[in-house]
Amino acid sequence: MDEFELIRKYFVRPDDAASVIVGIGDDGAVLRPPTGQDLVTVVDTLVEGVHFPLHLSADSAEWVGYRAVAVNLSDIAAMGAEPRWMTLALTLSEADEAWLNFFARGLHLAAEKHGVHLVGGDTTRGERVVVTVQVTGIVDPGRMIRRSGARVGDTIYVSGEIGDAAAGLHLLQNPPDSLLEPHEYLHKRFRYPSARVALGSSLAASASAGIDISDGLFSDLGKLLVASGVGANLHLDRLPLSIALQSCFDNEQQRQFALSGGDDYELCFTSSQPLPEKIAGVAVTAVGTVTAGSGIICDAAGVVVPFADSGYLHFQ
Ligand code: ADP
Ligand code: MG
Repeated sequence: MDEFELIRKYFVRPDDAASVIVGIGDDGAVLRPPTGQDLVTVVDTLVEGVHFPLHLSADSAEWVGYRAVAVNLSDIAAMGAEPRWMTLALTLSEADEAWLNFFARGLHLAAEKHGVHLVGGDTTRGERVVVTVQVTGIVDPGRMIRRSGARVGDTIYVSGEIGDAAAGLHLLQNPPDSLLEPHEYLHKRFRYPSARVALGSSLAASASAGIDISDGLFSDLGKLLVASGVGANLHLDRLPLSIALQSCFDNEQQRQFALSGGDDYELCFTSSQPLPEKIAGVAVTAVGTVTAGSGIICDAAGVVVPFADSGYLHFQ
């Protein structure tokens, strides 16, 4: 199978005629955004042996494909934008058809769920699998959500439930003797992260700042606070934790996963307005308050709990 056959078989899908003027097959894609919309563009790379294990079985390629898209959709959601188009740069050590089949299935599953069209890419051979997905979305002019907009007195919210993905990864690396339903739920939360796309675009009017949680709440909220020049009080007894997480781990571990575990791809955002318990079908939980100063002070039931964590750093 040559490169062109591979692209045709696994990656070409029907285009959106209204917005994709030229799709896969030419030197570049030509896209037509709705008149007057701003474009938001993001890119993320997954490297074999760093973001997913070396020599994964073919069926695991499905979640690699899914994840590669979902992590980008999450960045688009955090900006308050709507994802529309994506490109894929794929480096493969071999053209394993079973692997490609599962990979493409996961990739298209995540994309089609959110109406995103694959409009181009690049395919190369290399020593390790490297997957780079770039997504472009649209947002009403000036309505994007930035990290820098949090103001003293705003409430800090988190979507969904946090800590599950890190717990799922931990369970994959330290398999329990018998695999129970909550274990499988946590595995799934790691492999198929929720990208809060509908929530993100409905927050454009109400959020003062936002970020997606890829490196852990403590670290990612920290980045939002630095960008906004403020600090925060974070109430650890209000963190939204799943029943599965609570049934598999003790309180200390739950807190550790929820605060410093990455990979959840939930949204953390601030607002000066009181928000409903659910937005776009997703639970949102108030977990703290923006304060003057800098840094995060954690408490549980009014008692200060010392906590320090820097999240995942690639070059340390
Ligand atoms: P060029 O030589 O001009 O870079 P290629 O021969 O690499 O073009 O690619 C041919 C077409 O296939 C281009 O439209 C490119 O965007 C698309 N393409 C290549 N690899 C992928 C991929 N992995 N997924 C989607 N489209 C791809
Ligand atoms: Mg060319």
